Amino acid sequence: DNLALAKRCRGDFPLLSRQMHGRPLVYLDNAATSQKPQAVLDALQYYYQQQNANVHRGVYQLSEEATSAYEGARARVQRFINAAGVEEIIFLRGTTEAINLVAQAYARPRLQPGDEVLISAIEHHSNIVPWQIVCRQTGAQLRVIPVLDSGELDQAGFAELLSPRVRLLALTHVSNALGTINPVKEMIAQAHQQGIPVLIDGAQAVPHLRVDVQALDADFYAFSGHKLYGPTGIGALYGKRRLLEDMEPWQGGGEMIIQVSFEHTDYNQLPYKFEAGTPNIADAIGLAAALDYVDNLGLEAIAEQEQQLLDYGTQALQRVPGLRLIGTAQHKAAILSFVMEQAHPHDISTILDRCGVAVRAGHHCAMPLMQRFGIAGTARASLALYNTRDDIDVLVDALHEVVRMFGAPMAEGGQ
Ligand code: PMP
Repeated sequence: DNLALAKRCRGDFPLLSRQMHGRPLVYLDNAATSQKPQAVLDALQYYYQQQNANVHRGVYQLSEEATSAYEGARARVQRFINAAGVEEIIFLRGTTEAINLVAQAYARPRLQPGDEVLISAIEHHSNIVPWQIVCRQTGAQLRVIPVLDSGELDQAGFAELLSPRVRLLALTHVSNALGTINPVKEMIAQAHQQGIPVLIDGAQAVPHLRVDVQALDADFYAFSGHKLYGPTGIGALYGKRRLLEDMEPWQGGGEMIIQVSFEHTDYNQLPYKFEAGTPNIADAIGLAAALDYVDNLGLEAIAEQEQQLLDYGTQALQRVPGLRLIGTAQHKAAILSFVMEQAHPHDISTILDRCGVAVRAGHHCAMPLMQRFGIAGTARASLALYNTRDDIDVLVDALHEVVRMFGAPMAEGGQ
């Protein structure tokens, strides 16, 4: 069975054995956050029970142990995305905080009226709003790469928007709302030809694809741990050393300094310059455990299985009367976003919930994208390594329940 991996791993995730409304939970909201394997829960508990101390400060053994576990986690992240140096990994709360850091510490001092920041029409709000804020602060303009009906970016439109006025391209690797995998390597190369640095929002990519920041030649790459089977409250920003070194700190406090007087402060070296205050030590260690877990299974094997399940789900959903998939890109990660003629996404998700099926309904923090497709929102089933064909079958049965309750779709030309 080619879904053997999911079957083998399900038991590693304690939460998946819960029931909802008397039915076994079918968790299909993994793009929002994934469940955590026991290995991650154990790592968190071990840290708090055996190693808890503040890092980088104490000269006693316990603090040294905590420091080495925390710095080991940084090296683990470096290896996971193949960064050239461990100092290029900054631990932050997640993707949102990473993008805000780049907007404020990299872009803000470099932007002037007349400059442009380029994003795309399929961005999550966290890769839109920080750029709007910095554009307002500096008088720069936000420009948007258009999206085609398939959910793929309009590459001709992209080429036209590249100009010497563009000071930064900020682009999602994988769309959380549609699943589209953008050809980021090619787009980064095109931007670089014009000297434009590129930030990639990797929140939805790292759980599904092997990411190599050097092969991509990304200047900045941001992701969150909690979508990658790790804890909430921890994520990372990768930045090329040269760029990070040229940047001023974003937040001030302890950790990020070498020496402080009231007249003058010397900042610490990378990566500490960008980690003011006591860091999220435990969750960084939990994230490292999640990366071990994923790498033990093999991201390639996970990706292959998810693609098979995506194909299975795509075919099954297309047979549900009145259902339309939104996002039909050729290269897609394991996300099934859809609308139904007869029911609002919130009604769909409420009925699914009664059947034990957790999906998300709404705009998925991508309101401009929903406007582009002329819809208020979608229902979204998003897959992870532990999902099986059985999960899809329960989803499809529940969708037939929606059809029964709301009736068959109106004929063509009906309202
Ligand atoms: N970008 C994308 C594409 C996302 O899917 C998300 C999370 N939904 C984010 C950014 C923000 O991630 P976080 O909330 O973990 O900071």
